Amino acid sequence: MAAPKLQAPRGTYDVLPEVAPARLALESIARRVLEGAGYERIETPVFEATELFSRGVGASTDIVQKEMYTFTDAGGRSLTLRPEGTAPICRAYVEHGMQVRSQPVKLWYLSPFFRHERAQAGRFRQFWQIGAETIGTDDPAVDAESIALLWAILAELGVGGIELRLGSLGTSATRASYREELAAYLRAHQQRLSPEVVARIDLNPLRAFDADHPGTREVMADAPVLMDALAAEDREHFEEVRKRLDAAGIAYRLDPTLVRGLDYYARTVFEFTSDVLGAQSAVGGGGRYDGLVEQLGGPHTPGCGWAAGVERILLSAEQRPLPRAVCDLYVAGTGVPAFALAAEARQAGLNVQVELAGRSRKGQRKQADRVGAGFVAVVEDDGSIVLEDVVNGESEAAPGASAAVAHILKGRHL
Ligand code: AMP
Repeated sequence: MAAPKLQAPRGTYDVLPEVAPARLALESIARRVLEGAGYERIETPVFEATELFSRGVGASTDIVQKEMYTFTDAGGRSLTLRPEGTAPICRAYVEHGMQVRSQPVKLWYLSPFFRHERAQAGRFRQFWQIGAETIGTDDPAVDAESIALLWAILAELGVGGIELRLGSLGTSATRASYREELAAYLRAHQQRLSPEVVARIDLNPLRAFDADHPGTREVMADAPVLMDALAAEDREHFEEVRKRLDAAGIAYRLDPTLVRGLDYYARTVFEFTSDVLGAQSAVGGGGRYDGLVEQLGGPHTPGCGWAAGVERILLSAEQRPLPRAVCDLYVAGTGVPAFALAAEARQAGLNVQVELAGRSRKGQRKQADRVGAGFVAVVEDDGSIVLEDVVNGESEAAPGASAAVAHILKGRHL
């Protein structure tokens, strides 16, 4: 009996060769924009101590309560596949004493993340994010630049129907008193709210703004909003961010109900949506997290950053893949001299493909056309080489491998 076939786990997918070029194009554009602005690449481990996320992301968030892939390793440690990138990067900032570097430290990443969510179009259990973090200053220019860089990446990738929503959450002190005001308002309207919202009134009343429940939505339409409760310096900070976005010609909609599903945000928050995406319309978002580094055991260090979903960008962007790598030489022939020519040509820096499927000479010639080879070398087992320049159709015998390689190099540079 044949063994049963296996499938990739629910909510995961294989990156097949057909889609690899589009992902590569995304990476190269993001890299050019971010490294051009002085951001440096960082990669942190795929798993971390569970405590990093319960402390960093917040014990009451959906991510920590319901969505983490947590396991105990053979040494009895509780570990979690990272559900997001900001807490790990702040952990790395503290662990490697990056506060002694020139500030702010500007980092970017492109990595896989894991959340046990309901899998659907645009929502996966393993997904990729491209993200950027600027740690070490609370200058409003950082908030504006973060937004401008993500905007530039999405625009250059041709992501359709983009809208930017912007808000400010104030500092944690403002939020604490606002939370009490909101909780009191929710309690006063308890009978019209959904049971889940009622259960979270004390834990996280802000999440009531996210609810789909009709009664809750009606109540929330008249709820007090945080932006009206901002302290003077937070209001000024937000105004400075907005002035810079206006100066850069970046349009946004103020959204006083914008709450993000992570507890570490303070002051500026933002989210980009694409109307091409349907239900899962968020392409990327982020904000300022001035208390996070301290919460993770470091000195008081403000920071600001964002993450954008690679799958959602690819779903909403025009497909503009990079051209495939050119094939300079296709070596027709399966003997030792053919292999030696391929090795010498590669050492000289040429892109070479060799015959690996035992095709006939005719089949090999077709394969050379399929891969778009510039030259074809027919190599016999006695070492004789006939070199064909595919562009002009001319063939000539080459006196040896080195001569053939020199000829191709000359031809390539003409
Ligand atoms: P968040 O860290 O939740 O703000 O996510 C930032 C971005 O990552 C979102 O705007 C999405 O584009 C993407 N994202 C978050 N969760 C998922 C998921 N489960 N599947 C695919 N993309 C996701």
